[in-house]
Amino acid sequence: MRLKIRVTGIIQGVGFRPFIYRIAMKNGLKGYVRNMGDAGVEIHVEGEEKAINSFLKDLKEKKPPLAQIHEVITVRLEGENQFTQFTIQKSSQEAELSGSVIPPDVAICDECLKELRNKNDPRYDYFFITCTDCGPRYTIIDRLPYDRENTTMQDFPMCSFCKNEYQDPLNRRFHAQTVACPKCGPKAYLTNNKGKLMPHKDPIREAGRLISEGFIVAVKGYGGFHVATATTKDAPLLRLRKVKHRVQKPFAVMARSLEAAKSFAEISPKEAELLTSYARPIVLLKKSSKYYLSELVAPDLHNIGVMLPYTGLHYMLFDSADEPAFVMTSANPPNQPIVKDDEEALKTLGNVVDYFLFHNRRIAHRCDDSVMRLHGEKPVFVRRSRGYAPAPIILRSRAKRCVLALGGELNNTACILTGNKAFISQHIGDVENIETRDFLENASNHLIGLTNSKVEAVACDLHPKFTTTQLAHDLAEKNRWSLIQVQHHFAHVAALMVEHNVSEIVGICCDGYGYGVDGEAWGGEVILGFRDSPDFKRVAHLEKQPLIGGDLATRYPLRMAAGIMHKKVSVEDWLMQNRQFFPHGEKEVQLILEQLKNHRNQINTTSCGRVLDAVAAVLGVCFERTYEGEPAMKLESTAMLGKDVLKLKPIVKSDILNTTEMLTEIFANIGKNTVADLAFSAHNYLAEGLAELAINKALENSIKAVGFSGGVACNEILTTIMRERVESAGLQFFVHETVPPGDGGLSFGQAVFGGFFG
Ligand code: ZN
Ligand code: ZN
Ligand code: FE
Repeated sequence: MRLKIRVTGIIQGVGFRPFIYRIAMKNGLKGYVRNMGDAGVEIHVEGEEKAINSFLKDLKEKKPPLAQIHEVITVRLEGENQFTQFTIQKSSQEAELSGSVIPPDVAICDECLKELRNKNDPRYDYFFITCTDCGPRYTIIDRLPYDRENTTMQDFPMCSFCKNEYQDPLNRRFHAQTVACPKCGPKAYLTNNKGKLMPHKDPIREAGRLISEGFIVAVKGYGGFHVATATTKDAPLLRLRKVKHRVQKPFAVMARSLEAAKSFAEISPKEAELLTSYARPIVLLKKSSKYYLSELVAPDLHNIGVMLPYTGLHYMLFDSADEPAFVMTSANPPNQPIVKDDEEALKTLGNVVDYFLFHNRRIAHRCDDSVMRLHGEKPVFVRRSRGYAPAPIILRSRAKRCVLALGGELNNTACILTGNKAFISQHIGDVENIETRDFLENASNHLIGLTNSKVEAVACDLHPKFTTTQLAHDLAEKNRWSLIQVQHHFAHVAALMVEHNVSEIVGICCDGYGYGVDGEAWGGEVILGFRDSPDFKRVAHLEKQPLIGGDLATRYPLRMAAGIMHKKVSVEDWLMQNRQFFPHGEKEVQLILEQLKNHRNQINTTSCGRVLDAVAAVLGVCFERTYEGEPAMKLESTAMLGKDVLKLKPIVKSDILNTTEMLTEIFANIGKNTVADLAFSAHNYLAEGLAELAINKALENSIKAVGFSGGVACNEILTTIMRERVESAGLQFFVHETVPPGDGGLSFGQAVFGGFFG
């Protein structure tokens, strides 16, 4: 019998051809296997029918750990057997099928780590040790198929030792495209901040020692540069915050080991599992009672972002260091994507760091670290990037057309939806300028190429002035794609529906800002979504509150609080007492009071984020937002130890949840209750109120599903209370599991909206 087999999925760069070779040999089959230009694999087998059936069974059951098989298409061929042996053939450029992709970058495996530490191994102490089961993938590929000459390993011809392993079917580096050794592979070197070489026989451990001593070192990794420094000393952190103009924003750390991380953070078994998974995301962990790292790492927050080493280089970095963890923050200049090229690094980081730890392998694609947290046992993506992108989200139904979605503005990603698969790009960042727009466009094109997608439509936000909306218009015109503009919160809710395959839902959608269908600022909405119609409806929302001074109200939450409370009480004295928290002091307070009186040019918002900000300001938790989400995040941290003391009942009128009464009640109770209890009471009011609105709408419309989406859904307290209320009303409660609830998941929502509802 002769059979041609096409396999789709994640099957290039995962040791799939060597695996096919082995099971073909085992079953005594002849023929070949080869990589295709569409990221798929083609297999030709000849032999007894029984042997071929056993081969097909092995293919599905014994696949390599990183492989994901989506489809196995078999065609029976007529004619005589042609082959005398089974071989791995040269790859084909042919691209026919859509939806396969190469894997994400994979953390160093146990076998490689053992070799790294074994004095007798030829790769002892070699920082770029990898195999078919581990190493960079997404960040090193220039084009398909996944062969060494199509990756940034093309600059490193294999030595005879590596080549022998590469060609040996019994070796675990058989056909590993990233195979390298100290003789033939990439090399690491240390320079000062001007790029002048500092010769050292062990540059990596020397860099680790320097970091430990309090120097700031830029470290080149798989998907870009990190800026690293010590975590137990204040001085380097103060210096880093000053040069990076990063007053309060938390830094992620890399702990030397799980044990070390346990010495300063609480780690549940589920969190340990995530930390040590091959994706190695940053996990937001609760600081333990014995927390002893500098307060400057993650100021005023109850949690800290921790990841574990994921390359040989990272492990070696800690060998000569006595720090339990290093700060490892993405090196990106303000409003720019993460730095990936050496020249660029010297130019933009030279005045930030003391030293550079370079290696001479080019990075093809930048990729930031992923960030996750757990709500109880449930993982939530704060950022889905390295270790996950470009692996697809597999949906339970097929889209009507292939859509490219460009997301919104902040924390952006792109997404390709084809068939039942959605490919979300790595983290792009805030798309507000030419550099990030280019990054978004490149990442989109790369994703289209990798997945061999035939795009028919481009989706974007409803906001007329977003850079991404403009880009979508340009692409639609240039490629004659249809253009789909999706309201921000509708996209969030659509994402939730398709992720869980529900046909109707009442979606609670809370975030900072989204352009509403009425052109106003939305962000605390209850939305009715139906699978078979694009006519999503906003059926309830938070009370409209004034943004005093527009964007300034976002930056200085006291303005937000003043705008809200002014409706009920006089805020003049209170503002004067707090005048030192405004950049222009008393003058600014006077101006605000005037604006409050005459309502001129007043912009309103229903944003839940802004209400949380206002509570944070009233409680003295945060007066200035120096990074996205800061007041609300600090408020959640404050509320973590609190309880509901005020027991406020939600005030709802005409499907609008009142927030003025809540804030003035909080204000009136300052001093009578702890700040933690008041912070929790505010959370409780909002969660109960929003849940009540959603439950009412679900009952009115005989809908069984209620969901929670938007960036605020990263908040554990709100999510927990809502779930309790919704489930005790006999309804199902859905949150995001595979897609970020924040704007990193927006492109996915737009894509599914365009692919399923439009
Ligand atoms: Zn390995
Ligand atoms: Zn070698
Ligand atoms: Fe949003």
